[in-house]
Amino acid sequence: MTHPEFDAPEPPAEVSASSLLDALGRPLHDLRISVTDRCNFRCRYCMPKEVFGPDFAFLPRSEVLAFEEITRVARLFAERGVRKLRLTGGEPTLRAQLPSLVAMLREVPDVDIAMTTNGTMLRALAQPLADAGLDRVTVSLDSLDDPTFRAMNDMDFPVALVLEGIAAAERAGLAPVKVNAVVRRGVNDHTVLALAEHFRGTPHIVRFIEFMDVGTTNGWQMDEVVPASALVAAIDARFPLEPVEANYTGEVAQRYRYRDGAGEVGFITSVTQPFCSTCTRARLSAEGGLYTCLFAGEGTDLRGPLRAGATDADLGAIIDGTWRARTDRYSELRTAQTPGSRKRVEMSYIGG
Ligand code: SAM
Ligand code: SF4
Ligand code: SF4
Repeated sequence: MTHPEFDAPEPPAEVSASSLLDALGRPLHDLRISVTDRCNFRCRYCMPKEVFGPDFAFLPRSEVLAFEEITRVARLFAERGVRKLRLTGGEPTLRAQLPSLVAMLREVPDVDIAMTTNGTMLRALAQPLADAGLDRVTVSLDSLDDPTFRAMNDMDFPVALVLEGIAAAERAGLAPVKVNAVVRRGVNDHTVLALAEHFRGTPHIVRFIEFMDVGTTNGWQMDEVVPASALVAAIDARFPLEPVEANYTGEVAQRYRYRDGAGEVGFITSVTQPFCSTCTRARLSAEGGLYTCLFAGEGTDLRGPLRAGATDADLGAIIDGTWRARTDRYSELRTAQTPGSRKRVEMSYIGG
């Protein structure tokens, strides 16, 4: 497979001379912060029960970064050009006192703060999180068909409560909500049109995500990936679509709008049309590992130095060195044979 667009990388327009660039010329713009490795769902594509069962050893509390530690790291990233922080997990809303963390992160200058959640706790938490300074939420919802959704989260959790969570986010001023749906052939692909139709005419934006081979436990097979191009064609046939320009370089979703003005949908084509050449994201695991790719096998430890009294300059040098050395482009190099061939961290550990 060749990647001509990668052979001669053009720096994105917004890269300034002072930007921290990786080895392939990509700037650092986003930091995804996993605040817990735990979750109340067992989505089969992410944390299958057979692996993440009652005996699974989640991180003990002492190994998880404290809010002060997370905020310090976030500030150092912001000083290096990061403008977007995204709280994720595991399920971020399971972390006790999450609004307090958001309030602390709000003190970091010039950052947008978002969260990706399964939505189950939003009925109670949307308002406190918005009051603390959260800007936006993405809610994962793979199907509106209740039996399909219950099977996918594998905890028999009903759709209705997630929809109530989305409504709570809207009331709290966190709209437009992005709704993430992972599509798996033969599992929920028959419910894609209904999901698109439900959110047509609302400010919310459904983003269909190709099933990815993250981690090593979800039994990924290429033939379970429904190419985004097929989804675009299926939705376009029922509700005509037209493409929309990306908001910014590095935006992961391909955007389309309904020709009749009923809103937008997005497609995250990580498998069939990878976007590594514009990937500007770093990830901080719950225990303070810095990962430069969703498919990384190893992270760079920040917790050790943080707890050993490292100065901001020391920590900054580790971050700079890690980003400058970055050559990740896993999705561009993926082949159908890739799974199983190398160690990869689980998505629930570093967040999506
Ligand atoms: N628990 C939160 C949630 O589900 O929104 C945040 C963490 S979850 C790991 C982040 C995102 O990754 C979710 O939208 C989820 O659907 C997506 N995801 C997890 N496993 C995936 C996979 N194998 N392929 C594609 N997306 C996946
Ligand atoms: Fe939990 Fe999110 Fe993974 Fe589902 S996708 S198991 S909700 S972390
Ligand atoms: Fe970024 Fe890695 Fe995903 Fe490529 S595979 S887009 S480098 S996270």
